[in-house]
Amino acid sequence: METMFAQDIEDLKNLYSFSKEELDILERVDKAADEIALPEFENYLNRKVNMAGVQIAKKHGILGLPVKKEYGGLGANALVTALAKERLGQVGLSFSSFYNVHVFLTQLALQRWGNDYQKEKYLKPASKGDIIMAFGLTEPDAGSDPSAMQTTYEKRGDKFVLNGSKYLITNGSIANNEIIFAKSKENKGEISAFIIDTKSNGFSVSMQLKEKIGLFASDTSMLDFKGLEVPKEDVLGEIGKGMHVAYSSLMNGRMGVASASVGVIEDCLNAVLSRAKERVQFGKQIGKHQLIQKHIVKIAQNLEMARWPTYFAAIRKIAYEKDPDNKDLEREIDKRTALAKKIASYSAWDSADHAVQVFGGFGYSLFSPVGRHYCDTRVTRLYEGSDEIMELKIAAHLLGDDFKAFN
Ligand SMILES: Cc1cc2nc3c(=O)[nH]c(=O)nc-3n(C[C@H](O)[C@H](O)[C@H](O)COP(=O)(O)OP(=O)(O)OC[C@H]3O[C@@H](n4cnc5c(N)ncnc54)[C@H](O)[C@@H]3O)c2cc1C
Repeated sequence: METMFAQDIEDLKNLYSFSKEELDILERVDKAADEIALPEFENYLNRKVNMAGVQIAKKHGILGLPVKKEYGGLGANALVTALAKERLGQVGLSFSSFYNVHVFLTQLALQRWGNDYQKEKYLKPASKGDIIMAFGLTEPDAGSDPSAMQTTYEKRGDKFVLNGSKYLITNGSIANNEIIFAKSKENKGEISAFIIDTKSNGFSVSMQLKEKIGLFASDTSMLDFKGLEVPKEDVLGEIGKGMHVAYSSLMNGRMGVASASVGVIEDCLNAVLSRAKERVQFGKQIGKHQLIQKHIVKIAQNLEMARWPTYFAAIRKIAYEKDPDNKDLEREIDKRTALAKKIASYSAWDSADHAVQVFGGFGYSLFSPVGRHYCDTRVTRLYEGSDEIMELKIAAHLLGDDFKAFN
């Protein structure tokens, strides 16, 4: 098992008693991560979506890791899931972004809000990796403020008809089914969530965004809906309650981003420890130059700052998952996941910067792991709620709702 990952599990054994089954799941994820690493690297350089990584994850049966066994998953709790996501984060944020959307943003939403029919039709195949899922909330004019969305739905007989577009959608062009949020044409304020089929007439991918500054092995697409028909059975949650679905998905997603960021910091630390011992300048290993030691210490500091709020949020989330209608617990998890995401994503970005400095010119190349992390980590401070939105959310939790600076 990867050494630093094994050490994390050892540390946590002081706080949490892992069952044999949970340790087996983590072993399985560790093996899958080892296998995913090479296609992640090759696809990253070729700017192709890491579909081989998806097949490997499917083979190891980890695509429904936190989903209940009755729906085809492994039934892992929030802490085991966070550790698994951390291990995948070490491999790279492209695969990790695929995973966040396919598992956290969509499958957990189907499990929480879906009816029996939807769980059978979408959740079971998604957890097995037989279908791929995407999540479409953002639009060109509605990012941090989803209430400004312009995609509409209209009821026609026993169907809903969607018109509009979505923007920056991870897995958007590789997914079979997507959870899409739209606003009622008749009742303007009302937002609902729909499970759409990408083979339906009226669905198209207008662009696959290749001109990104990172995540080169992840799909980011722009989608158009023109008269896209959705059967009424595929409304997710109650009609008009789409933002409940979106907010709970984002809370799960933020946990995933925080955990993956911890993994990135670990990979940066591993990489600089090796490099500092191997690379010789001025007749000695660069790790013997004290200014290089300072960079390494900063990454180690970032790791401690990032992993404990993430683990603690995950441990508290176990309680919330057992009692999802408990509003006090929900508020606590909302705050803890926002804090964990804010701290871990910033720490990962900062760690990648220090790691590139230790690597020198080679660190500026995408052949180096730290160069890839440097390009990729920037997005973690934007997607699934930007730094600023996390700060406003945390402030509202601390000061009270009267001080809420956003809606
Ligand atoms: C690679 C990638 C993948 C993505 N995948 C998905 C996906 O799968 N599904 C999906 O729905 N979306 C996805 N997104 C979209 C992402 O969630 C949004 O980019 C993000 O929510 C920010 O929205 P925005 O880009 O429109 O920025 P804006 O909302 O326009 O914000 C611009 C700046 O203003 C700040 N800001 C906004 N409002 C306030 C405020 N009230 N106070 C202070 N500052 C404020 C923001 O923090 C930011 O710094 C993805 C984005 C990227 C880059």
